[in-house]
Amino acid sequence: MTLSLPRTIISLNEMLSVSRDWKKAGETIAFIPTMGALHEGHLALMQYAESLASKVVVSIFVNPSQFGPNEDFSKYPRTLRDDLEKIKHLKIDAVFTPNASEMYPPDFQTWVDNSMMSLDFCGPFRPQHFRGVATIVLKLFHLVDCDHAIFGKKDYQQVKIIEQMVRDLNMPIKIHPMETIREEDGLALSSRNRYLDESSRHVSLALPVALNVAFDMFQSGVRSRSEIENAFAEEIARYPEIQLEYGKVANQSDLRRDGDEITEASVFLAAVRVGGVRLIDNLELGQ
Ligand code: AMP
Repeated sequence: MTLSLPRTIISLNEMLSVSRDWKKAGETIAFIPTMGALHEGHLALMQYAESLASKVVVSIFVNPSQFGPNEDFSKYPRTLRDDLEKIKHLKIDAVFTPNASEMYPPDFQTWVDNSMMSLDFCGPFRPQHFRGVATIVLKLFHLVDCDHAIFGKKDYQQVKIIEQMVRDLNMPIKIHPMETIREEDGLALSSRNRYLDESSRHVSLALPVALNVAFDMFQSGVRSRSEIENAFAEEIARYPEIQLEYGKVANQSDLRRDGDEITEASVFLAAVRVGGVRLIDNLELGQ
């Protein structure tokens, strides 16, 4: 049996009317926003969605407003045909692939801006990134009219900001954060991994290794934020090919970092650059 490709929807009006009709018929909708170049991490979110609602919508949209002027927007992989092939065995009721020109018409001027959690971690390295993310996710939530939305903890700061947005703006949507899917050697799956050449791919393993150093210290009872962060930075510094952007311990609940002593369930968040590729990852440290 050959499986057919999932239904794609490009126009905003069509997406609105499809979701409205589903809702009228009593269906519930689970939604997975992506930028495409799909991998097993994305697929895991989609598989989980089936258990949450009667309809599953995936969006594939490389959102220009979350890229800075010197970032990889133009070279970000766009592989729609492959993506549709990869997901045709899953129960996906629609793949929403809007055009940037319809999402952001020339007179577009309204933004969703998180004023706290976006300031640290990736924030200073990617000015306006989370403003672009929050705005597009809000727009997609409206268009898809979802009851559930699934996000990867791989982008930890992003999930926290989306959860905050849903609370702050009283949106009746349940956010489901999912565990990070990794390669066998520990590297977190990411659409950007395909930019890594062989030697950068090898060196990039230092990131999960250093995160595990932090994890082991925490497990062995160390509760000093600076001690753990310094050990992480030292581990990364062993590889001259890697530039550390940040490696920080924060509260899982609100990403705050109060005082040197870790007293709450925490997470180690990090970003590095390897061979011109920016990689982010994190590990929950527990309580
Ligand atoms: P992206 O296409 O990179 O915007 O990612 C779309 C969604 O997939 C986001 O919620 C990501 O956090 C999630 N995601 C990306 N990589 C992984 C991974 N390795 N494991 C689980 N979820 C992931």
